[in-house]
Amino acid sequence: ILSARDLAKSYGKTAALRGVSVDIRRGEVLAIMGPSGSGKSTLLHALAGIELPDSGTVTYFGPVPADRRSAPDAAAARQLASQSGAPAPETHPRELTALSDNDRTRLRREDFGFVFQFSQLIPELTALDNIAVPLLLGGTKKRAAYATAYRWLERVGLADHAKALPGEMSGGEAQRIAIARALSPHPSILFADEPTGSLDSLNSEYVMSGLVQLAREHAMTVVLVTHEPTIAAYADREIIVRDGILEA
Ligand code: ATP
Ligand code: MG
Repeated sequence: ILSARDLAKSYGKTAALRGVSVDIRRGEVLAIMGPSGSGKSTLLHALAGIELPDSGTVTYFGPVPADRRSAPDAAAARQLASQSGAPAPETHPRELTALSDNDRTRLRREDFGFVFQFSQLIPELTALDNIAVPLLLGGTKKRAAYATAYRWLERVGLADHAKALPGEMSGGEAQRIAIARALSPHPSILFADEPTGSLDSLNSEYVMSGLVQLAREHAMTVVLVTHEPTIAAYADREIIVRDGILEA
């Protein structure tokens, strides 16, 4: 679903990535491991089209842009395809690294989901509202958006926290809401960067295994950065970044 070739990126004199190539298969859960400062976040940001590399290409095999339905319809179609076991009709290659900033931003919003360490919930909104926001922005009607948001609240085990504000939840609960918010629009790829970095390891494992299980049930592809081997164990495959290159 994603194919990266020879990615390189420097920050001033620091070479964060020095020629990374990786192919990510549709439906795969990939863990990116490696020491602190090795380039994991830089790689994730390049793969997701958040930050452009200095050189190299990222190609995304996603839906045909000319055939684009509205985002909710596309999400529904993906869900249906995942349930019927039919191959996803998403084979149109687009080079992320060649798109305009606007096109890349739009593609990211429509097709990708993100759970980052400091992915902030909106503090003034309830848990349920936070999950509904991206669905509403994507054009889903209010009633349907809230029905979907509530189902995801149940899936992360927090139905009884629907009206809680982020400040009234524990760190782990807030992360589970962030996960529900990222998964509810059915992104074709979920990118996660140390999503549990602020939690203790038992809580992390609980949150992460939940994320991976939900993503698998809904046939999403997951790319996650972690340095916890217990969390990488939930992935289908792991790659190790060391000094900006992949360890063989
Ligand atoms: P960690 O496990 O600590 O999150 P990481 O593997 O994610 O580390 P990166 O964040 O990708 O590491 O950073 C790789 C290198 O690039 C590091 O040397 C870092 O200091 C440098 N770097 C990353 N982002 C920037 C930036 N915005 N400006 C300058 N240097 C940066
Ligand atoms: Mg990082």
